[in-house]
Amino acid sequence: MVVTRFAPSPNGPLHLGHAWSAIVAHDLAAGQGGRMVLRIEDIDGDRSRPEMAVQFRADLKWLGLAWHETAPQSSRLASYRAAADSLLAMGLLYPCRCTRADIAAAATRSGPDGPVYPGTCKAQPPAGGEPVAWRLDVVAALARTGPLDWVDEMAGPQVARPDLAGDVVLVRKDPATPASYHLAATLDDAADGVTLVTRGADLFAATHVHRLLQALLGLPMPRWHHHALLVAEDGRKLAKRRGSAALADRRLAGEDGLALSSALRAGQLPGGITFAQSLDEAP
Ligand SMILES: [Zn+2]
Repeated sequence: MVVTRFAPSPNGPLHLGHAWSAIVAHDLAAGQGGRMVLRIEDIDGDRSRPEMAVQFRADLKWLGLAWHETAPQSSRLASYRAAADSLLAMGLLYPCRCTRADIAAAATRSGPDGPVYPGTCKAQPPAGGEPVAWRLDVVAALARTGPLDWVDEMAGPQVARPDLAGDVVLVRKDPATPASYHLAATLDDAADGVTLVTRGADLFAATHVHRLLQALLGLPMPRWHHHALLVAEDGRKLAKRRGSAALADRRLAGEDGLALSSALRAGQLPGGITFAQSLDEAP
């Protein structure tokens, strides 16, 4: 059975781009007799607002989507810790105390998420007792797994290149957010039985890292479907200040959610919004 998931963070309201993402996840599962899982990714500390998740469910219902809800990330911290412990026992994690500014100053190349961590703390472990983040030693990890590949339903077979992103953080400094997106999403998708990971094309590069984590942790490999993003006509991310109203506001204003779903499925986008395969992050 095909299992997809929609996994929003309750840090703010859902917008049109989220609606598109949820529709893609829902339709790819429903079209094959499968199901979409809703997972609330609520481990952003103070930024996570429980009332947002209530709104999300009302928004999805308004769009005419059905789902099976799974446990929120906040209830899964033990599984993140256990996975980090096992990677640590394999000798694949090292502590890092660098700030963003340290990394920007020391980086010699750029990756999918900006400056690539240059391995400062791998060469010289940080001293002292302050909290540290834990990074994955990607070269050592790849030496352990050997070459890996994965399949995107849109882009076809891919050779995994986790080295492009460098030694990513798996355990964050902030104790309220113990696992990074990479670790938490990979573990959760496996625990939720997700067979087809659907998400925006902006996360395509992250999949190289996730494939490596699956191999290291003995998790099953799903397929992926990275879908086109809804962006403003200048290529930038949709945001409220650029005219994309929250779904909840549209719903409460009496707009027809089913008509909105139908329009999105037909590729009919509101003026000023277009489909793109990547985001233009220029300020
Ligand atoms: Zn460091």
